[in-house]
Amino acid sequence: MDVLDRRDFLKTAASVGAGSLLARAVPFETAYAGTVHAKAGGFTPVAVSSSNGLHAAERAMEMIDSGADALDAVIAGVNIVEDDPQDHTVGYGGLPNEDGVVELDACVMHGPTGRGGGVAALRNIRNPSKVARLVMERTDHVLIVGEGALRFARAHGFREENLLTDEAREEWLRWKETMSTQDDWLPPHGMDEKDIGAVLEKRERSTGTITCLGLDRKGGISGCTTTSGLAFKIPGRVGDSPIPGAGLYVDNAVGAAGSTGRGEANLLACSCAIIVEHMRNGASPEEACLRACRRIVERTVERRLRDDEGRPLFNVRFYAINAKGEHGSASIWSGGTYAVSEGKGKTRLLDSAYLYRRPTK
Ligand code: ASP
Repeated sequence: MDVLDRRDFLKTAASVGAGSLLARAVPFETAYAGTVHAKAGGFTPVAVSSSNGLHAAERAMEMIDSGADALDAVIAGVNIVEDDPQDHTVGYGGLPNEDGVVELDACVMHGPTGRGGGVAALRNIRNPSKVARLVMERTDHVLIVGEGALRFARAHGFREENLLTDEAREEWLRWKETMSTQDDWLPPHGMDEKDIGAVLEKRERSTGTITCLGLDRKGGISGCTTTSGLAFKIPGRVGDSPIPGAGLYVDNAVGAAGSTGRGEANLLACSCAIIVEHMRNGASPEEACLRACRRIVERTVERRLRDDEGRPLFNVRFYAINAKGEHGSASIWSGGTYAVSEGKGKTRLLDSAYLYRRPTK
């Protein structure tokens, strides 16, 4: 409130009022992709990941097939993407904060023991998922952040390195040099003020993360979400990914949910815990994910976050499995896919359900 002047406040208050009406007035164009059902009777082991996790799901399922605990499997899966410099949303090669420093967030949850651990704003360590696991196993805490997380990782022998690749640095530099025409950073070669205006108009915050969920042969369910977070964030910003209940949640009796996309929305909606509760109450994984999307739409009342029709200007994606091994995924905007593996030769990308069809440009 103290950052708004009175006129802005009245405008905002008016748009909040109109916004709540709009949120109800704009119909969802919900499209179902169809929850994939497990075999009747028992349960089917499975690994599910966000669309950048095809290899992660495959790796996790290979391990599950050979008898591994789902937690070992999902961490080994996401490590592939954390180590990949080409994925600019996770681990080594992730896009940095506004100072050009890569800060990572991750969380793990282990269904059979009901335990979880996370790290946030961790610098210089490429596999925050492994550090999160140690927080769970070797401390009585759930979340360690910043300098404390780095010291904890060092104590466990993690090697420090610069996580900023040249490619990610250049992207950060381009972002910095096109922030404004009024600062001392000159535009990249060949760009003038008009081009910068166009860039600013179309600028979208780059997002991404990997989440991986697994159901192992003993019926154990685990999950991991790991990310470099929102590109060019304010240093120290923590998203939903390392927070149990927001970017990941596991309940061995029910299932698991993970998320990618705008973390602030998940933090305020406790999305992944809510998805698991919907499944506990009988919803399919896909329907539970769709309900979490609707909850975010209904809670997004600030005008700056909505388009002219009252729909969120951002996306959030959810992935879920239940204790039978059924899986589903949904996002606010269309076009999403998710990775599923049910064994050797059975790894594929499936369409996610959605609330709104993305307008074609
Ligand atoms: N959820 C992540 C965060 O907010 C970013 C993303 O998935 O795009 O940090």
